[in-house]
Amino acid sequence: MIPSSKELIHSVHPTPLVEIKKAAVAGCPLYAKLEYFNPYSQSIKDRAAKVLLDAALSRRPNRIYEASSGNFAIALTLLSNAHGIPVRIYLPKGTPKSTFSILKILGAEVVSTDFESITPEMVEMVKRDAERDGALNLNQFENDLNPLAHYNGTGKEIVEQLKKERIRPTHLVIGIGTSGTLWGVTRRMREVEEWKGIKIIGVQPARGTKIPGIKRIESKPKWLSLVEPDAIVDVSDKEAAIGAAEIARKEGLPIGLSSGAAYMAYRKIAEVERGIYVTIFPDSIYKYVEKMEELLGGSLL
Ligand code: PMP
Repeated sequence: MIPSSKELIHSVHPTPLVEIKKAAVAGCPLYAKLEYFNPYSQSIKDRAAKVLLDAALSRRPNRIYEASSGNFAIALTLLSNAHGIPVRIYLPKGTPKSTFSILKILGAEVVSTDFESITPEMVEMVKRDAERDGALNLNQFENDLNPLAHYNGTGKEIVEQLKKERIRPTHLVIGIGTSGTLWGVTRRMREVEEWKGIKIIGVQPARGTKIPGIKRIESKPKWLSLVEPDAIVDVSDKEAAIGAAEIARKEGLPIGLSSGAAYMAYRKIAEVERGIYVTIFPDSIYKYVEKMEELLGGSLL
């Protein structure tokens, strides 16, 4: 059956899992799931946006308020457009200008806030505003359907894709935003009896730097304590940009900054620990062109 735009996401799943070849550390294979194949935000956040919005439709929302650093907002705006529901998005400081412009062009009402990142205070503020105005707040930061979308989607796909090729992963490397991806995928992978001891590596921006989509764990993402990661690796914004450029140049994949961060975290761990690594590349390079030019400056351009 030919899908409508509302159901398009099902046509593109599973997203591809690729083996990283020239950019891999010797003796440590790396498999990366390419989430920019999703159809709305061209990022992993399509998955949570679709599941959270669908679950809320029975409440017949007349508008939606949400805090997001970008991709969830873009996915939600596009899906809500298809349903005819207006959306207001609250952005933290440091959101790339292109994300701001894209949201406006897509028709969202955009509120730029003074929060340095999406803190619990910012989440509370959006909740209060929504209550005051009778709007729906899906709240990706606290809504348990977020990790469930990754348990039933991203994680399930990874397990099937690896099992089919008889690949036995030893390490999972994932960037931490809401921690929905990390928890949903971890939970699903740990259910495979032979993979039980898989090491879980979380990735966060190095202190004082910003990488769109991921945050430091001091912000206490809701599901992180359920994961109990074996390590949290710091990656700076500049390292992330270098990582993204390297994957583009060596592998021919146009990955974004948090993907570059995941790749650099893999490099840091793989240099000291042999294993079979799996990671997720959450989105693509195109929203970050200005930011990458700024970060790379003379060093690669
Ligand atoms: N990378 C990017 C580019 C993202 O937009 C997000 C979502 N904030 C993440 C990584 C992290 O995903 P999650 O919110 O599921 O932890």
